[in-house]
Amino acid sequence: RTVYVNGTYLPEEEAKVSVFDRGFLFADGVYEVTSVLDGKLIDFHGHAQRLQRSLGELGMTSPVTMDELLDIHRELVTRNDLSEGMIYLQITRGAPADRDFVFPGPDTPPTLVLFTQAKGLIDSPAAEKGISVISIDDIRWGRRDIKTVQLLYPSMGKMMAKEAGADDAWMVAEGFVTEGTSNNAYIVKDGKIVTRHLGNEILHGITRAAVLKFASEAQMEVEERPFTIEEAKQADEAFVTSASTFVTAVVAIDGVSLGDGTPGPVARRLRDIYIEASRKAAI
Ligand code: PLP
Repeated sequence: RTVYVNGTYLPEEEAKVSVFDRGFLFADGVYEVTSVLDGKLIDFHGHAQRLQRSLGELGMTSPVTMDELLDIHRELVTRNDLSEGMIYLQITRGAPADRDFVFPGPDTPPTLVLFTQAKGLIDSPAAEKGISVISIDDIRWGRRDIKTVQLLYPSMGKMMAKEAGADDAWMVAEGFVTEGTSNNAYIVKDGKIVTRHLGNEILHGITRAAVLKFASEAQMEVEERPFTIEEAKQADEAFVTSASTFVTAVVAIDGVSLGDGTPGPVARRLRDIYIEASRKAAI
């Protein structure tokens, strides 16, 4: 596989990042995951915009322009002959000479890394059968709207789910569902789609924005407000969205089956609409 590190394309075995990199030492970095269908990028501009915002919130700047970033994405697709999968991008606050809590000065350039991951996104067991989730406490920091590489707790959440025989975890803060470990969370009751409003408590999903727009255009009712796990367990349907899973039905919460325990009509319809529309708009 060919990867990109700081201006150079090279085989993954030869790619190097300093041991002093602040991404490695402090989780001082941000990332994006953009999916690829038919060798084209889904919602690149949405991801680029959120990247700029994440960087801005942390007082960082991108070492390349967003146009250059698009070229790098495309070059990686070509060099790796990627037709379906993801492109992972990470920017960290670079590698100063010494480990120091204080941010380095302008003479320390950021580190930019990108790599591809081939993966079937359209057809998967999760897409067909839906997933089960457990609820766990959301003990993450207060700026979940910034897409940082601090993913230890979400990773632990996935492990807790696995140990409980489930696929994923929904996190709960002050009684209300925030989001999944790596996706936004939704429930459907009497045809109405409910998902948590935007704020510092959740990541502003690029897929979320697209799905809510498509839902409104399809005259589906959407309510952006907090909901509890109890409300979710009594919903007709539930689903999650993310760049790599699109719209995926949730068929059980904490062992309670929703509906007949198979992906519901709203989740299935939104998945189809999302895939068709974003495929058409891919660049
Ligand atoms: N919420 C969290 C915590 C995530 O990590 C992700 C994606 O990785 C999402 C939501 C979904 O965001 P997007 O649709 O932009 O992939």
